[in-house]
Amino acid sequence: MAGFIDEDGAMIHEAKKQIESAHTIALLTHINPDADTLGSALGMWHILTKMQKKCVVVNTTALPYNLDFLPGIEKVKKTLPKNVDLMISFDCGSFDRLGIEKKDAFLINFDHHKSNTLYGDINIIEPTFASTSQVVYKFCKVSGFDVNKDAALCFYTALVDDCGFFKYDTVNADVFAFAKELCEIGVSPEYVANELTMREPLSKLRLIAMVLETLELLCDGEVGVIELTQQMLRKSGGTKEMADDALNMVRSLVTVEVAMLLRQEEDGRIKVSLRSKRYVDVSKIAMYFGGGGHKRAAGFTLDIKDMEKAKSDVIEKIKEELKS
Ligand code: 5GP
Ligand code: MN
Repeated sequence: MAGFIDEDGAMIHEAKKQIESAHTIALLTHINPDADTLGSALGMWHILTKMQKKCVVVNTTALPYNLDFLPGIEKVKKTLPKNVDLMISFDCGSFDRLGIEKKDAFLINFDHHKSNTLYGDINIIEPTFASTSQVVYKFCKVSGFDVNKDAALCFYTALVDDCGFFKYDTVNADVFAFAKELCEIGVSPEYVANELTMREPLSKLRLIAMVLETLELLCDGEVGVIELTQQMLRKSGGTKEMADDALNMVRSLVTVEVAMLLRQEEDGRIKVSLRSKRYVDVSKIAMYFGGGGHKRAAGFTLDIKDMEKAKSDVIEKIKEELKS
């Protein structure tokens, strides 16, 4: 795969040249955004804005309530501006997840998903990095771009959210060195932790309680399955991303290796989220069903609307991975 650590740094050099010569830059984030896609894009927005570049962060879907503290988030646009001569995407494994039409502008793709389809004109991908913000930060350092305090706050938020506050297998000495440098620029870890995790609405707890009621343990307790329906969303007043914590609770059960959340979307299709603990590579399962992700967190959307059918199809595939 075309990686970040390319021997002669040609891609990084070319990306830097493209950014420096561009007039209007669109910073693209993936649909149903998380902290990594928004934090990486907003971080770059702060850096490029200081360099007097005209740039805009684009997200075509709803923004999570707990990221409203990220500086600049109020400037995120719902649509791609017309006259853009450079696009940069962040944390997005495939073009369709950007939620935009194909466009005739040069595209730089920054990511850390090993399933990335390399859809950019330049692809700066480092699957061993804990977050896309770590990739972008390294790019900025190598390119001599100044990472200011607002950018550091965005990059740090992206990092801690994507590595479960330094819990996941992506965490190593380089990740702590990255976090240290961001703290030295002025980030307060306590502030970020409080903003991200200590401002939950009551509707979230109500939704989690409903979702956990559906828990089924299969395969001798190695697989835990939960469901989220549109009716639960209506009844609790919660939003769909609020069930992610319930999925982590299921994974935390002592016997569970793979946790699965089946979520009914507005159009009735089933979105599947998978998490694993020690050895199952869930990105393989997600890629089989047309999605993607990482070893320990991956997802996909099925074209079927029947929850039971969706469940049994995916369980079959999980069983194969448990055995192998
Ligand atoms: P989640 O289950 O929280 O939606 O996603 C977990 C991981 O899988 C994230 O890194 C996300 O980008 C990736 N992922 C989720 N759904 C899809 C999908 O439909 N396609 C691809 N390529 N990746 C996905
Ligand atoms: Mn990410």
